[in-house]
Amino acid sequence: MENKVKEKLFSAVESEKENLFSLIQRLIQIRSYSGEEKEIVEFIVAKMKEFGFDESYHDGFGNAIGRIGNGPIKIMFDAHIDTVKVTETENWAHPPFGGEIVNGKMYGRGVVDEKPAMAGFMIAGKVLKQIYGNNFPFTLYVVGSVLEEDADGYPLYHIIQNEKIKPDYVVLGEPTDLKVYRGQRGRMELKITATGKSAHGAHNQKGINAIYKMAPIVAEIEKLDKKLKPKKPLGKGSITVSQISSKAPSTCSVADYCQIHLDRRMTIGENKNTVVKELKAIIKKYKSDAKVSIPNVEGTSWKGTEFSQEAYFPTWVYDENHPLVDAAMKTSKAAIGKAKSGVWSFSTNGVATAGHFGIPTIGFAPGKEELAHSSKEELILNDLLKATKFYSLFPFEMVSNVEH
Ligand SMILES: [Zn+2]
Repeated sequence: MENKVKEKLFSAVESEKENLFSLIQRLIQIRSYSGEEKEIVEFIVAKMKEFGFDESYHDGFGNAIGRIGNGPIKIMFDAHIDTVKVTETENWAHPPFGGEIVNGKMYGRGVVDEKPAMAGFMIAGKVLKQIYGNNFPFTLYVVGSVLEEDADGYPLYHIIQNEKIKPDYVVLGEPTDLKVYRGQRGRMELKITATGKSAHGAHNQKGINAIYKMAPIVAEIEKLDKKLKPKKPLGKGSITVSQISSKAPSTCSVADYCQIHLDRRMTIGENKNTVVKELKAIIKKYKSDAKVSIPNVEGTSWKGTEFSQEAYFPTWVYDENHPLVDAAMKTSKAAIGKAKSGVWSFSTNGVATAGHFGIPTIGFAPGKEELAHSSKEELILNDLLKATKFYSLFPFEMVSNVEH
């Protein structure tokens, strides 16, 4: 990338520094729990208009969407703007919705996961419009997605499937501590249901106990977890029994129903088919008629839009020399003087873009993943400034990488 472009963009971002910091502060001060994002979405849509975006609106699901340019290469920046709740037992040293700044750090719910990227994307867009007006070799969508904490992937699934916006490349604003993240383990939920025959406890030989049918399956699942093999760079998958429930006509009868709920994390090579097959093999080993099923995740967005999605969120990862990862590494070098790649431990909206639709996706943002959802969330403001430089330059690096 020409140095002239870089210098122009970075000095424009520098001159927006105070606006950037007050914008992130405002985003933290607007409480936006999952499903309660109306106020923050309306704020973001209005701001993008004020910043000169070519288009800004909220879509049918309630996501905030802004657009800049009309070029052939379509890039989407996505930051989810909902947060998990602040609970009474959490111990906050700073008020969670104060956006307080102490010694160059901001504190509050969402300063890691993941409002800073939204502020950075918006200021990057403002700067791009100021400098380039209407002359872009790309189309840039800036998305503030909603309800991600309840349904990772669904907000972007909606944009691609129902709003018919199909980006060529996606940059996520989940925390990466200014590294280029290029994948994540997938996850899914499953249920196994065993049925039996109830009988009076005094005549238990006449019944078939569903709990006894489930017991060896549970024991095998515990063993299976230890057998799962790690795969680079995502590590190993896991399987966890998260709930067990049973039914009997009374507490003095044989249980005729037993169900377990499972959380399964998937590494490379593991998917819905392999996971279900693995469980069916266990069931078969015990000549059991227990059934495996995948539950749905359901909910309603702040706009009243209902959704239902199979609880399957595929694994995804891109190679270091993939053109998108490469463009991001080059941008990182230009913006912060270094470039490192990594992967997330947790799940992101990439399960829809990369996992479901196969659209190349990466992440770059300030903040440490392990502080997400905790009262220790903190943002180094200078890191947000660096990330904003990255966001302003990235579309140009991406375009030049695919053109050459
Ligand atoms: Zn997040």
